[in-house]
Amino acid sequence: MREKYPSYFAAPVPAFGDASPKLLVVGLAPGMHGANQTGRPFTGDYAGVLLYQTLFDLGLSNSPVSEHVDDGLELTGVRITNAVKCLPPQNKPETSEIKNCNPFLTHEIDQLPSDCNLFALGLVAHQAVLRAYGLKLSSLKFAHGAVHELPDGRKLYDSYHCSRYNTQTKRLTTEMFQDVFRVAVS
Ligand code: URA
Repeated sequence: MREKYPSYFAAPVPAFGDASPKLLVVGLAPGMHGANQTGRPFTGDYAGVLLYQTLFDLGLSNSPVSEHVDDGLELTGVRITNAVKCLPPQNKPETSEIKNCNPFLTHEIDQLPSDCNLFALGLVAHQAVLRAYGLKLSSLKFAHGAVHELPDGRKLYDSYHCSRYNTQTKRLTTEMFQDVFRVAVS
């Protein structure tokens, strides 16, 4: 990996955005040529296109695109992280990795202001949040648009992941994504 792409970030990708957010967006894992290259979640590959555009459209950032760590992008009230911090083998996280990385997510959640809610992009992120809270994976069912109450009073909003597959097949449309975000930040 380092030999083939010496300029890549190729390390655990830190969360990005407001240090004192109202909403923590939880993604899946760094993409090979996205966050793994740039060092910022959802940056450098297709998965971030709809996410950053939506944040901008809702007035939560100063630019509709995230290009690289020095592009001056700032998020307001929102922070973005991933369930898995490093590039997974075959670009697909294994359960062991999700479990091993979970204490990092727990720590990130612990650092949040108490009125900060969570926003899961896809089932894996939803389950990573449940793990971080020590909840049974069957206790809260993932569904696009679902809103769950967490034990500490925070809310967990669910959305389909904004992957290329989901957006190109129209499983997730711009309107669907915006609608869930609008509710989550209202
Ligand atoms: N890039 C990320 O940082 N996270 C994802 O879930 C997908 C792409």
